[in-house]
Amino acid sequence: MNTKKSIIKRAITDDGSARIFFIDSTAIVRRSCEIHKTSKTMTAVLGRALTAASLMGSLLKDRDNSLTLQFKGNGPAGLIVCVSDYMGNVRGYAENPDAELPPNAIGKLDVGGAVGRGTMYVIKDLGLNEPYIGVCPLVSGEIAEDVTEYYASSEQTPTVCALGVRVDQNNMCFAAGGYLLQLMPGAEESIIDKLETNIGMMNSVSQLIADGKTGDDIIASVFAGIEYTMFDEFDAEYRCTCDREKYKRALVGLREEDMNELVEAGEDIETNCRFCGTKFLFPLDEILTARAARKAEQTEEDEEDPQ
Ligand SMILES: [Zn+2]
Repeated sequence: MNTKKSIIKRAITDDGSARIFFIDSTAIVRRSCEIHKTSKTMTAVLGRALTAASLMGSLLKDRDNSLTLQFKGNGPAGLIVCVSDYMGNVRGYAENPDAELPPNAIGKLDVGGAVGRGTMYVIKDLGLNEPYIGVCPLVSGEIAEDVTEYYASSEQTPTVCALGVRVDQNNMCFAAGGYLLQLMPGAEESIIDKLETNIGMMNSVSQLIADGKTGDDIIASVFAGIEYTMFDEFDAEYRCTCDREKYKRALVGLREEDMNELVEAGEDIETNCRFCGTKFLFPLDEILTARAARKAEQTEEDEEDPQ
C-alpha cells in the first residue's frame, strides 16, 4: 500500500496471450475522500469507480485523449462521473457523496445497492470530431463486474476487472487497488486455463493490498506459472484540470436570461468545481465587462462577414 502516490504497473505474458495493468490507488482514493467527505459506502463506490477509470484511461494512446466513466443508476449514490487521462490521472464525483446503506447480505459495503440498476457509459475523447461512446446496462452496480461486461460486449476484448477498496472506521480509505487483465487475440488455451485457476485461488484485491502485497506480488500471483515481462511503471494521481479561465469563459457564454438572474441577485458569482471543490469568485462587473467585450467582437465579425 502506498499512501503517498498511486502507481500503475503493466506486464505482458512472453507469448503475448495476456496483459495486465495494476494500480495501487490508495493515494487517489484518499484524496477523493478528503475532497468529497464520502460516507463509508460512498468511499468504496467512488474509490472503485476512480480506480477503474484510471486503469481504463491508461489504455488510451495519446497525450490529449481522455476517458469518462459514468454510472447512471437508480440507487442512492446518484450519478457517478470519473474522468481520466492517458497516464491514469483521474478525478471524479458522485451526486450524493454522503449516501449510506447497511452492509449487504455477505456483510460487505453495499456498492451494488448504492449504484442500483441502470446504465454505464464509457466516453472516449480521442481528439476526433465525435467522441466514442460505449453504453452498457449495469450487471450488478459493483463496478468491477460492470467494467468486465463492458469490455466483453462493447470492445469484444475478454477482460477481468478486479477492484477493491477497504475503508476504516473514519470512512477513510485504508487500501485500494485493482487490475485489468486482458486476453489478446489468439490467446493460448493453456494460458487462459492457468489464468482462471490462478485468479480463482487469489484473495480479493483489497484484501491483498491490506495484507501488504505489492503490485509486483499481485501480478506474480495472476501470472503464476506463466513467463511474463513487466514492461512499464508510472505514477498516477487524483488530478483536476479546472482553472479560473474555464469558469470565466462559461460565465461569459451564459444565456442572456440566466445572466439576468445573476444580475438581479446583484452578488459576486461563486463557482464550485464538482471534481475538486475549488471555488472561484467573480465580481459581477468582471463578467459583465467581459460579456460586453465579447458582444462587441461578435458584432464586428458579423459586419466583416455579411451572410
Ligand atoms: Zn477542479
